Amino acid sequence: MEHKDVKIYFSSELLSWYRLIKRDLPWRMNRDPYRVWVSEIMLQQTRVDTVIPYYNTFMSKFPTVQALAEAPESEVLKCWEGLGYYSRARNLQAGAKEVVERYGGIVPDDKASVAGLKGVGPYTTGAIMSIAFNRPEPAVDGNVMRVLSRYFCLEEDIAKPATRVRIEKLAASLIPEGAAGDFNQALMELGALVCTPKSPSCLPCPVMEHCAARLDGRESELPIKTKAKPPRPELRAAAIVLGSGVNAGKVLVRQRPDTGLLAQMWELPHLLLPADKADWLDEKAPKEQGELAELIGRMLEEDTGLLIRPRRWFMDADHVFSHIHWKMRFYLADLGDESGAYAPAAEETVGIAAEAEAIYSVNAAAASEYKAGEMPSVYRWIDKEDMEKLPFPNLFLRILKEFWE
Ligand code: SF4
Repeated sequence: MEHKDVKIYFSSELLSWYRLIKRDLPWRMNRDPYRVWVSEIMLQQTRVDTVIPYYNTFMSKFPTVQALAEAPESEVLKCWEGLGYYSRARNLQAGAKEVVERYGGIVPDDKASVAGLKGVGPYTTGAIMSIAFNRPEPAVDGNVMRVLSRYFCLEEDIAKPATRVRIEKLAASLIPEGAAGDFNQALMELGALVCTPKSPSCLPCPVMEHCAARLDGRESELPIKTKAKPPRPELRAAAIVLGSGVNAGKVLVRQRPDTGLLAQMWELPHLLLPADKADWLDEKAPKEQGELAELIGRMLEEDTGLLIRPRRWFMDADHVFSHIHWKMRFYLADLGDESGAYAPAAEETVGIAAEAEAIYSVNAAAASEYKAGEMPSVYRWIDKEDMEKLPFPNLFLRILKEFWE
């Protein structure tokens, strides 16, 4: 078969297959470009099953571009809580504001304008243009690169930008006339359900007859992708500070800065440990680490003026971002008063570790400098109800839920 015919075969078989098996997903209800846009942003790095409930909640809260543009950012982040990669939510809202300001609240039917929106890269541009407006634009992500590398037996490294450009051209040349939206979704669907990364299901695959990788028995070798650097480990120690007096039953949290990783989200106070202290968080290292507890106390005292006494280890947890791996140790901590005495913990079930008395020395002078209301606004006391309202990264939400359960 000639190369041209292999391409025609691929496009027509794939399209027929998709129209037969197409999944009934909430963003496929209609071709509203806003709905397509939100779904494509949510689906980046995230599985369809995970996205569905988030998508439904998000669309019921922010049914239009206008509604999203006008919403408080904290509400948008709260709806995104648990999906991760929070800059996606912030960029989506910034893009919605641009659509309202520049295009009167209507997503423009124009590639350059869509590509210019905040957070919209080449893949999302192609997805919006093809799915919502049926324009013959390719939408190439990792799934599509994998499928096309296998079908055409391409040996270029898909981690290289030049390979992406080449595959985009190839994908554009495959789009059947008048069926851009369905064809691009068909490619994504094939990558998600059949031509999967580890074990492609070649037998039921609609294009298996002319798939070059399968014919060569190389489907598991392709695509070629050089490995990204592993995420850099960061050791962090955190405190779950238990309030006393009017704050009894509450926990101290703080808001992250306006920019950077997890910007403006809430978290439990913690500090980054020097890399040479890696053994402190080692599985076998004693959990009641005196030096570590003291460091946390000192950091919080400097930040808030509060006297904190880490009392006992609570749990370890970790989270991998795309480039950083947070390895965290959480301590339950009590609050000291101005006399240097510590309030009894609000939580009765936890016994006070005898060593904790010894590992933290009280700085009564510093305590007397703290007056009510002087805490930086970035810190606040919250109860379980507040936890439901404020946006927390998954890692901290998990710890807080564990604590309150
Ligand atoms: S035949 Fe196998 S390797 Fe080729 S496209 Fe289909 S699932 Fe992928």
